Amino acid sequence: MRLIYKKFLNLMTSFSSFPMREELMRAVADLGFETPTPIQQKVIPTLLSQPVDIIGLAQTGTGKTAAFGLPLLHHTDVALKHVQALVLSPTRELCMQIQEEFKKYGAHMRGLRSTAVYGGVPIGGQIRELKSNPQVVVATPGRLIDLLERKAISLEQVQYVVLDEADEMLNMGFREDIDFILKNTPAREHTWLFSATMSNEVRGIAKRFMKKWEEFSAGQANVTNENIDHQYFVTNHHNRFETLQRLLDFAPGIYGIIFTRTKQDCQDVAEKLMRQGYHVSPLHGDMDQKMRSKVMERFKNKSLQAIVATDVAARGIDVNDITHVINYELPDDPEVYTHRSGRTARAGKSGICMSIVSPKEISNIRQIERLVKQRFNRSDIPDGAEVVRKRLFYYLEQIAEANPQADFARVYQETIHERFEEMEKDELIRRLIWLQLKDTIASYEDAEDLNASYENRERGRGGRSVRLFINIGLKDGINSAEKLISFITESTDIEPGIIDRVTVRDLSSFFNVRSDAAEFIVQAMSQKKFKGRKVRMEEAEQRDRGRSGGYEKPPQKRFSGQFKRRDDKGGSQKFNKKY
Ligand code: AMP
Repeated sequence: MRLIYKKFLNLMTSFSSFPMREELMRAVADLGFETPTPIQQKVIPTLLSQPVDIIGLAQTGTGKTAAFGLPLLHHTDVALKHVQALVLSPTRELCMQIQEEFKKYGAHMRGLRSTAVYGGVPIGGQIRELKSNPQVVVATPGRLIDLLERKAISLEQVQYVVLDEADEMLNMGFREDIDFILKNTPAREHTWLFSATMSNEVRGIAKRFMKKWEEFSAGQANVTNENIDHQYFVTNHHNRFETLQRLLDFAPGIYGIIFTRTKQDCQDVAEKLMRQGYHVSPLHGDMDQKMRSKVMERFKNKSLQAIVATDVAARGIDVNDITHVINYELPDDPEVYTHRSGRTARAGKSGICMSIVSPKEISNIRQIERLVKQRFNRSDIPDGAEVVRKRLFYYLEQIAEANPQADFARVYQETIHERFEEMEKDELIRRLIWLQLKDTIASYEDAEDLNASYENRERGRGGRSVRLFINIGLKDGINSAEKLISFITESTDIEPGIIDRVTVRDLSSFFNVRSDAAEFIVQAMSQKKFKGRKVRMEEAEQRDRGRSGGYEKPPQKRFSGQFKRRDDKGGSQKFNKKY
């Protein structure tokens, strides 16, 4: 009995059990797909045998493209030369990916033509492509409407419409475009809507354009993906970048995506990492299509170890073997966290999602834990010795697994042998490893503890601090230390506890901060305005420092600029309160 049941299960879970055309079966075998993913198991049999309207709740990475793509191609009549199936998707990257997948699925279907049309590239080439009478068109809504207005495409005979990532299309403001397109598909028989999340707006599309539908869900496969190890690291806001760097160094084989909240942060973080020799690149909406494609190409061929991306730009990344997702900053919306973390642990693999959070943000982690229904591990930010050890073992492993080219030995053996004949094996190894690790060792000598903890904060207070000057004071309405502190903390997101010894004068103020936070604060404040006036902040000159010391790191040029007292007219008010 048990054997029969097992056989039955096998039958149910293999592609061969699907009543699918033979050319598609072959393509699936070529692709190496063995077992249908949960959403495929649920959706494909229905859509193949008696297509109905459906709503599929599934994220990228769940195999949803094949879930709708295989049935779509199955129903395509290659003998007909008009558009029969239309797939709408939010971004050009996604369009390109779907088109790539369709090409693979349809590799054995002679006469099948599928094309993708999307914005950001000249329209001429796409108009020419459409003249070759594709049966399947994958499109972004905006470009499709442009093509309709130019009469370069007709949707008169479209029978199947797929709305992929419907929630994202709505987020991007495509609601009216989607309505317009669906209204202009008079022969539409079936609408298949896929979305990672279900909202009233998504349901609204269904209500307006679908008569009766069935709902399928990937069982929140990506929301609760047990293959993802969620970790978070608590540091003070001003140590965010150093923490990122340390986490990267602690993950030598990383192939990851680093998420930032804004395009500016994306650019800044990527540039800082690149300057320090990391193989990374930014990916955000202000980069043109050509640059973005180039970045993706370099990422896919692994010339880059990580991409620093915004949420919108990252939607186009379709890579299956991401080892780490790093949240440089947590997203405001916990739902977005699941989109980010779902970039790793795809197609049955495991992955790590790390978040760098400030003590204030721990409550956001709790919120996300509830949504993801998984406990997150608070991990210590590794210290210098741990980083060095980790990289050493990584390097040892690399040596152990290296497979030199066959003729490498023949060509160089003699030279190598001659040069090192006299040297002991252990000494040789020591030197080789030293060469590999010496930079890491040097940069991690005396590495500070980046973990934000009560003890660290206390140590910080007792430790060195820097006195800073800011060009706002009593006359600007700063009539208390609290006011100044809250302006600075709100502008920079640093913890109030690291500011003390505040002195407010008529036109300017002074305060002490921990030396390791000074550079961060000065940089962050230089972008700000107070009541319309540009904020100027710099290190106060030596005699104003009181008991303070200097920076832990050598001060940069722009820091050493002398504090100009021209604004100061006396009338100081001193606040010795410690925060
Ligand atoms: P998607 O969710 O459509 O973006 O698919 C994620 C990735 O999983 C794509 O690279 C697919 O090629 C791959 N994939 C889809 N279905 C399967 C399957 N049944 N087995 C293995 N890989 C799959």
